[in-house]
Amino acid sequence: MEKKRIGIIGGGISGAALGYYLSLYEEADITIFEKNRIGCGTTAKSAGTVCLFDDSLSNRYWDVRLYGFETYCRFEREEKGSAGFDQTGTLVVALSEQEELRIKAGIALAKAAGYSGEYITDKSRIEEILPGINTENVLGAGYTRDDGYFDGTMISNTFVKKMQTNGGIVKTDMEVTEIIRKGDAAVGLKTADGTRYDFDTIVDCTGPWSRFTGELVGLDVPIWHTKAEAFFLCPPVKRPGYVFPVLKYPAFYALRAGENVFICKSHLSMNLDDPMHAGQWDPDKLPQTGGTDDYFIEFLFDQMDTYVPGLADSGLVSSWLSYRAEPRDFLPIIGETPVKNYLLATGYGGNGVIEAPAVSRDLAKLIMRGESTPLLEEWAFKRLLKQ
Ligand SMILES: Cc1cc2nc3c(=O)[nH]c(=O)nc-3n(C[C@H](O)[C@H](O)[C@H](O)COP(=O)(O)OP(=O)(O)OC[C@H]3O[C@@H](n4cnc5c(N)ncnc54)[C@H](O)[C@@H]3O)c2cc1C
Repeated sequence: MEKKRIGIIGGGISGAALGYYLSLYEEADITIFEKNRIGCGTTAKSAGTVCLFDDSLSNRYWDVRLYGFETYCRFEREEKGSAGFDQTGTLVVALSEQEELRIKAGIALAKAAGYSGEYITDKSRIEEILPGINTENVLGAGYTRDDGYFDGTMISNTFVKKMQTNGGIVKTDMEVTEIIRKGDAAVGLKTADGTRYDFDTIVDCTGPWSRFTGELVGLDVPIWHTKAEAFFLCPPVKRPGYVFPVLKYPAFYALRAGENVFICKSHLSMNLDDPMHAGQWDPDKLPQTGGTDDYFIEFLFDQMDTYVPGLADSGLVSSWLSYRAEPRDFLPIIGETPVKNYLLATGYGGNGVIEAPAVSRDLAKLIMRGESTPLLEEWAFKRLLKQ
């Protein structure tokens, strides 16, 4: 049987998920190149929330969200811990009627799929679920016990392990330094050790690095880096037995991280034209920890003062900075590009953990069967050329 040779650049959740879905096709010959370790880039800095209803991804893409959630739950059933699931539940707070409508629609979708979900207007109940919350300007809150957050690095390694079982190859500590073109097509690549590899299809899954890998093939990848500044807080009051849920407000979100609380500005509240929020930077220069701006910590403490005063007196344990790769419309860039045989699976922004399974399933089908899907049509590179 003639095999299709596919080279994947990047072993974050994007490359790992794609490698796995491609490996379900017998005639796929897959190699992932990762310049560091699997799941150690943006994926390692992720909060990993995959909530059944929140504002991170519009209800229009409900099936993408559900597929991601159920894929990771399946991993957990097959091998406990393989997706790092912490089922804390989620509380999504509505401050406006528009948010209220979106949350209620999300709850209806979740219930139709067999999950629990309720819209709570009784403020004492909301305070029970999140002690320390200020319910003054709150219209209500959506709550489910069924979801929570996952571990992006564990998921990436689980995808890769499954791919390897199906015959796929992973090369870690192997940087791609050159893309080889023949006319208008990409035909292979070279790695830092000087080795050349020939491929029928190359997929760039390098997230925030895709600006740079794109340049290797003469492609201007239209992503911006938004600052994802995460802070780990030590709440002043310990409540034995209490489970801090994923907490979603329009401008920030929080979740438990052991005894502490992880808090971050939401990706949809980032302004790509504000140099404090977004720009073009080099992800290789990111420090392991720290590197955050005073602006963000002030912003988040201000939000807590207003909305969750019970957290405002927390100690700051640690922080980190990472870059999300965001296209102008905050939706990923998937599939074909102007360079023949050079595909993208990048621009996942703040939703890569949610979106990678459904996107990779569809992209693998496009690569192996030449069949597109409505999702791939909507998230195609060509939509950005029209703007
Ligand atoms: C603080 C924070 C919170 C987040 N919270 C959530 C959340 O709650 N839910 C959610 O769904 N998403 C969340 N995200 C977003 C999610 O983490 C990302 O969308 C996702 O991890 C992107 O994955 P990726 O594989 O595209 O990129 P990456 O994980 O960055 O992977 C790219 C890989 O490419 C490799 N690479 C780069 N250049 C080369 C080269 N030349 N050769 C070989 N390898 C190369 C890098 O080493 C890296 O490992 C969050 C992100 C951050 C930063």
